Amino acid sequence: STRFSHVPEAPRDPILGVTEKFIADKNPLKINLGVGAYRDDDGRPFVLPSVREAERRVTGSHFMEYLPIGGLKDFNIESVKLAFGDHAEVIKHGQVAVVQSLSGTGSCRLMAEFQARFMPNSKIYIPVPTWSNHHNIWKDARVEQASYRYYLPQTRGLDMDGFLEDIKNAPRGSVFMLHACAHNPTGVDPSLDQWKVISKAMLEGGHFPFFDMAYQGFASGDCDADAAAIRIFLADGHRLGCSQSYAKNMGLYGQRVGAFSIVCDNPKEAVAVESQMKAIARPMYSNPPLHGALLVSKILQDKGLKSMWFTEVKGMADRIMLVRALLRQKLEGLGSQWQWNHVTDQIGMFAYTGMTPEMVDRLASEYSIYMTRNGRISMAGVNTKNVDALAVAMHAVTS
Ligand code: PLP
Repeated sequence: STRFSHVPEAPRDPILGVTEKFIADKNPLKINLGVGAYRDDDGRPFVLPSVREAERRVTGSHFMEYLPIGGLKDFNIESVKLAFGDHAEVIKHGQVAVVQSLSGTGSCRLMAEFQARFMPNSKIYIPVPTWSNHHNIWKDARVEQASYRYYLPQTRGLDMDGFLEDIKNAPRGSVFMLHACAHNPTGVDPSLDQWKVISKAMLEGGHFPFFDMAYQGFASGDCDADAAAIRIFLADGHRLGCSQSYAKNMGLYGQRVGAFSIVCDNPKEAVAVESQMKAIARPMYSNPPLHGALLVSKILQDKGLKSMWFTEVKGMADRIMLVRALLRQKLEGLGSQWQWNHVTDQIGMFAYTGMTPEMVDRLASEYSIYMTRNGRISMAGVNTKNVDALAVAMHAVTS
């Protein structure tokens, strides 16, 4: 045997596998609805004008020095303000520990490691279903996983009763991974009233909420509205964790820029917790990348650029809501026997259609339309030019 003959090939990532099949398809009219990256109405990647302007302003203005382990200070401050609110008491009182992270994935990885070290014997409760990488992340940190009910296939909506029951039955001090808004893959979010009930239940159980916020601004088009769940929990006095990503809302995907924060009881605790976040980051990647953090802090610190960005996020969210409405309308127009109200009820980048893996396979083989086998459509890939073809194909495989 050779040195690495014992190494088996790792399973493919389910999302990236879709892209590979799409690339291999020779049909010029093929459509990729797999990956969650925003596209404009011509199906092209979109660089936000506010980001281009920030790039222009930072060009040549900085050295290429290392950032500190915890990242760019201004970036961290602006990030927690964006998540918790400009006037959040917990920020004013110095209760927040925060480090710049390698986007949402990196934040989750830091949280998982922090949990393994400082929340001993606690399990991570993950919704069914969830973004598939959550499982990998907590597994690598060797944190025991449990699941909570979230999505009800019959209604294609929230399983509120199941969710509350699972909160109640979880051992005290459990960590609950919550999608702050635009739940991936279902597009189903609790209403504000439901969040209030969930928050109270979580307090009663003595649990620790960890918000994964990968889509702030992308759900409703309004960054404050999309952080409403977190703010409800803060108002209830929760101590909580938060992952922020600028991949989608600023289109900075490949720059790997995000923030990881934990709200503590007091400044002393926050200093200690932050020092441990850095102790986790240092041997993992030493310090985070500079460029994306400079762009984000430029945008968030400048009133004009910030309001430009707000308009742009809203533009992206609005376009997605428009194609949701179009897709539903076309399907209904074709006389589909399925109910498609969930396409417009769900929010964010994804529509969780209820199509079976077999239907998804037919879409690929007969129509060159690609998506994950769980029937999740990345609505960001739908546009006024391909929505007709998509509706016709979906109607064909669902009737
Ligand atoms: N969390 C959720 C729920 C996501 O959907 C994603 C991206 O698809 C991420 C985290 C991570 O994204 P990134 O690491 O690119 O910020």
